[in-house]
Amino acid sequence: MKPIQRSLIQQTNDPYAFLFDSIVFGPVLSRRLGVSLGINLLPTKRKACTFDCIYCECGHTPQNQGDALLPTVEEVVKELEKKFIDMRLANQTVDTITFAGNGEPTLHPYFTKVVDKLIVLRKKYFPQARIAVLTNGTRLQKPGIINSLSLVDDAIIKLDSAIQTTVEKLNCPNEKFTIDEVISLAAKLGSKCIIQTMFVKASVGDTIIDNTTDQEVDAWINALLKIKPHLVQIYSISRVPAERSVEKIDAQTLQTIAQKVEHVGINTIVTP
Ligand code: SF4
Repeated sequence: MKPIQRSLIQQTNDPYAFLFDSIVFGPVLSRRLGVSLGINLLPTKRKACTFDCIYCECGHTPQNQGDALLPTVEEVVKELEKKFIDMRLANQTVDTITFAGNGEPTLHPYFTKVVDKLIVLRKKYFPQARIAVLTNGTRLQKPGIINSLSLVDDAIIKLDSAIQTTVEKLNCPNEKFTIDEVISLAAKLGSKCIIQTMFVKASVGDTIIDNTTDQEVDAWINALLKIKPHLVQIYSISRVPAERSVEKIDAQTLQTIAQKVEHVGINTIVTP
């Protein structure tokens, strides 16, 4: 296997940034995934992402570049197996093993290999556990990514808006990206796909951002009808966002949006 490439990332200066300092973390009780053991394929204590979402709890994606080493496949496997053995000895269970962590997991150059290894380890230690990947969808077109996501139980793809100009303001992609392409590629995953949507309002400089308007929700539901996910997870912020002007959306508004999704026949969970 080729040596891992160094990525160019700098640690955030945000004191409220919520960052993981290990490859394997938890288990934690997740609002959406039950007892979840997390895998962070990104640098520890640093964020690496193709988005710079205004609500991100990891702080802003660094613009300046520094050096950070990504974990090797061998390091990830070693840490996972150690954790699985410890959990079995402690009679602990796990509902979901989740690729999450300090940014976008599919940025790891050997993401597909790690998925293959995890599937083998899961069978050996926790065959009942689900494997989930939280992804922003920006790398779905890269070789092997869609195939790997089709091998896991839940490919949880971020879709905060189906309108490109809103995505640019809300998710702030830092590489070439169109939301239409993500919608088309997500549709290929069929029932494996879960859509996760963060609803917020914010005022950043002169720009007002609100993905709860009728126009936004209608366009978003049209995208859901193309993707046909087996579930939509709707939520709002629960930790300090990267942009402090981001406002949490109230539970009633989230429920009203969820009812519109249910009305077109798609299961929805609201996490206020
Ligand atoms: S995709 Fe996730 S990790 Fe990346 S900036 Fe957005 S919220 Fe943060």
